[in-house]
Amino acid sequence: QKARIGVTGLAVMGRNLARNLARHGHPVAVHNRTSARTKALVEEFGGEGTFLPAETPERFVESLERPRRLVVMVKAGGPTDAVIDEFAPLLEPGDMIVDGGNANFADTRRREAALRERGIHFVGTGVSGGEEGALLGPSIMPGGSAESYEALGPLLEDISAKVDGTPCCVHVGPDGAGHFVKMVHNGIEYADMQLIAEAYDLLRHAAGLAPAEIAEVFRTWNTGRLESYLIEITAEVLAHTDASTGKPFVDVVLDQAEQKGTGRWTVQTALDLGVPVGGIAEAVFARSVSGHAALREAARGLPGPSRTVMAGSGFADAVEKALYASKIVAYAQGFHEIQAGSAEYGWNIDLGAMATIWRGGCIIRARFLDRIRAAYEADPETPTLLTDDHFAEAVGDAQGAWREVVAAAARIGVPAPGFSTALAYYDSLRADRLPAALTQGQRDFFGAHTYRRTDRDGSFHTLWGGDRTEAGA
Ligand code: NDP
Repeated sequence: QKARIGVTGLAVMGRNLARNLARHGHPVAVHNRTSARTKALVEEFGGEGTFLPAETPERFVESLERPRRLVVMVKAGGPTDAVIDEFAPLLEPGDMIVDGGNANFADTRRREAALRERGIHFVGTGVSGGEEGALLGPSIMPGGSAESYEALGPLLEDISAKVDGTPCCVHVGPDGAGHFVKMVHNGIEYADMQLIAEAYDLLRHAAGLAPAEIAEVFRTWNTGRLESYLIEITAEVLAHTDASTGKPFVDVVLDQAEQKGTGRWTVQTALDLGVPVGGIAEAVFARSVSGHAALREAARGLPGPSRTVMAGSGFADAVEKALYASKIVAYAQGFHEIQAGSAEYGWNIDLGAMATIWRGGCIIRARFLDRIRAAYEADPETPTLLTDDHFAEAVGDAQGAWREVVAAAARIGVPAPGFSTALAYYDSLRADRLPAALTQGQRDFFGAHTYRRTDRDGSFHTLWGGDRTEAGA
């Protein structure tokens, strides 16, 4: 018997993806550099379906039906190249290598181009949902050729999460499109988590609530428009008590957030594309600030205002509004980046379809994504989600409270970079005039960089060092 698909790299993600395939009735070949992992998988979970274990790459490749579908789930970066170099010579034209790791989309473009020359389809695929998603149904974002999707799509859709019967898997676009979208997904995830953290911090230090009380607030929010996986697990984490000290769990965890790099890539790529993603950038920087222990130690105790507690339950409602509005901004920025990447690389990505496949399986799954899907359905060319009727109304309704919350944070000295930058972005977009006009004047003054005028076409320069007459062209 041949396997329909194979998975190499059987750490948490690969093992669970292989089990998910087997549980759906697809015979799956399994391989890992260290064969103890392969053996352990078959011993522990062999009863869940048909596994064809292979000790060597040669046996692994032989056990796959043609065209071969080979999923690589190894550490991103050098290991992925090493595995491709090992397997590609064993493959034949028409075969497919699916990289389900968190690869940088630029690496995926390079690998796809190199393998295409040899007739092999390279399918950079974003997989979100962590360990549990991989097993029970992740959100899957495959790139690569349309031809490869014909052979892979049905299998991937079968094991993906489903929302209203719709699979959370769609062909994103050619070459690196899948990994690009997964990258932005993770960037949005950073922003979402940061905004939730700020909401917690404000409820704690501005409203004076205890973690268990804040857990209740989040539980309530999770029954409304903020309903999402991240809000749900936030309530769980806040309600948890540390067994050894009896203190709230959140108080015994070192307050230094770590990161693996996809958030940073999202921001680096946005800078290259010229897309403002302040919400995502502030989230990455907030983790970075938290990790600078020596810097924080040196600055601890610098003067600040007294932290007066805001009385009344109205403040929690205001924070909910600030959170919802800031979240809309973060998603608007992330989708803008996808739109820009799609235009730059000619991917033709369907933005509404991205919102659709993020509704289930992945970390940012949320009721809200259905609204984004609807917004792109109403106007696929919309320049920003902020002008969609629903979102414009929601933000318009929230903005008073949003401003109160940002002002309160500044007044009592609780850092809220996510809420603040989101509001500044909103105000920048809706402004009649921006002080960029002054920036242009300065640039022309010191560097003769020229400027354009509001009333005439052409580019102009004022003779700042001379008689200040204007030269135009
Ligand atoms: P790891 O990222 O920890 O990678 C471990 C696996 O890589 C092992 O199977 C290991 O083999 C293999 N490996 C490492 N170096 C090599 C090499 N040079 N040659 C061959 N195999 C090698 O595993 P995860 O399961 O956590 O993640 C797999 C991929 O999925 C990563 O790219 C990750 O970024 C991505 N991902 C992870 C998520 C998560 O929640 N963990 C979520 C979404 C994506 P050996 O056993 O022999 O050491």
